[in-house]
Amino acid sequence: MSNGRLIRGGTVVDSTGMHKTDVRVGEDGTVREVAPGLVAMSGEEVYDATSKLVIPGGVDAHTHLHLEVGDLRTSDDFASGTMAAVMGGTTCVIEYVTPRQGEDPLAAVEYWRSLGESACIDWSLHATFTSAVSSSVVASLVEGGITSFKLYLAYSQLAISDREAVQMLFAAKEHGAVVCFHCENGGAIDVLIARALAEGRKGVPEHASTRPAILEAEAVNRVCSFAEITEATVYLVHLSSALALENMMRAKDRGVHVLGETCPHYLWLDRRKLEGEEGICFMCSPPLRDKSDQDQLWNALASGMLDTVATDHCPFWTADRKAGIFGKSHPADNFSEMPGGLPGIETRMALMWQGVRAGLITPMDWVRTCCEQPAKIFGLWPKKGSLAVGADADLVVWDPNRPASLDYQSLHMATDHSPYQGWRVEGWPELVLSRGRVVVHRGRFMGERGVGQFVPGRVKRVNPEGF
Ligand SMILES: [Zn+2]
Repeated sequence: MSNGRLIRGGTVVDSTGMHKTDVRVGEDGTVREVAPGLVAMSGEEVYDATSKLVIPGGVDAHTHLHLEVGDLRTSDDFASGTMAAVMGGTTCVIEYVTPRQGEDPLAAVEYWRSLGESACIDWSLHATFTSAVSSSVVASLVEGGITSFKLYLAYSQLAISDREAVQMLFAAKEHGAVVCFHCENGGAIDVLIARALAEGRKGVPEHASTRPAILEAEAVNRVCSFAEITEATVYLVHLSSALALENMMRAKDRGVHVLGETCPHYLWLDRRKLEGEEGICFMCSPPLRDKSDQDQLWNALASGMLDTVATDHCPFWTADRKAGIFGKSHPADNFSEMPGGLPGIETRMALMWQGVRAGLITPMDWVRTCCEQPAKIFGLWPKKGSLAVGADADLVVWDPNRPASLDYQSLHMATDHSPYQGWRVEGWPELVLSRGRVVVHRGRFMGERGVGQFVPGRVKRVNPEGF
């Protein structure tokens, strides 16, 4: 329980527009009333949000707060990663349970649920399958509130065959689940990597040249074809290229139930980052692309063709990146032995706000893609991603002009580098509430680990596109 609270004088933003209105938060941590000119009741704390924006807390639908890659593990955990998330205005994360090949997916889910107990904010889970599972496994996961599954078409230790993918899409359709896909053609990429290494091309920039956009686009097209024949709903994670986007949009146009996600790093960074001294700290898959890809991704966010922005938060210490996935006993001697993944859980809301400042998207697009749509697609809405009466009071008072440094020293993620080192942005949270409790105020963390709750996804979700 917390005191009742009145957020007064701010401008509430949602996907429909900007409204000058007050928000009353009840003692039970839910939104009680949204209307202009509300008068404080006795015992209620009043927060003056004049000249600030008031938005639902960010929902980050793609995180890896625990992930083992060979001998390495991601550098954040649920406690540190969710603390960093909320410092940047995200109040709910959906983490990918990623079992090792052959591991029982239900046991992996149980393990991740125990890890989640240290979270500072609410969280949900997606399950990953490394091989086809029975319809009864899908049913029991859905029953337990895990209503989305991930399948990889790349990485030999995770990838699933086309045959298994189609089987799982039929099962997902039967139980109302969403299937998330990592779209890259793993087999073709393996050959390109082997040829590069045989020719002595071992440097970090080869990470991008061996994972060309056309192989992402091919996988997107394949997944959309599978979605079309099974009538299942698919969600394409981390789209990075114009070619992939075109194939998704073509499928959308012919009525395929496909939703698309991109990440801030594909919108703001390009492949030249791989060429520098610190190139190793910019490795992710799909790789960073070109400026022309960024332009198309921004256009697709503005037009509503791209549905969400998530982080794919997957941080590593620089020393671990250099040591490589086989650990210190066998230091990496080429790009293929270095882990991929960027930190980003804390900087997403601010980086997307810079898109608003630059005129690339509207404030409504910002809230739609970063808060509302992720909650709707994964069955958390309107409890999350909304400030409607009855919603959880996960609320951010956003100061559109508050300056912030994106240097790793100023941030709270467990990393010793930042993809945006040297960047100074304007726009950062002033106040963050999680179920009505103050978790962040003016850059100070006031929350605690272990209070975040598991939020079950519901399959009877409000479908963003009517399917
Ligand atoms: Zn990921």
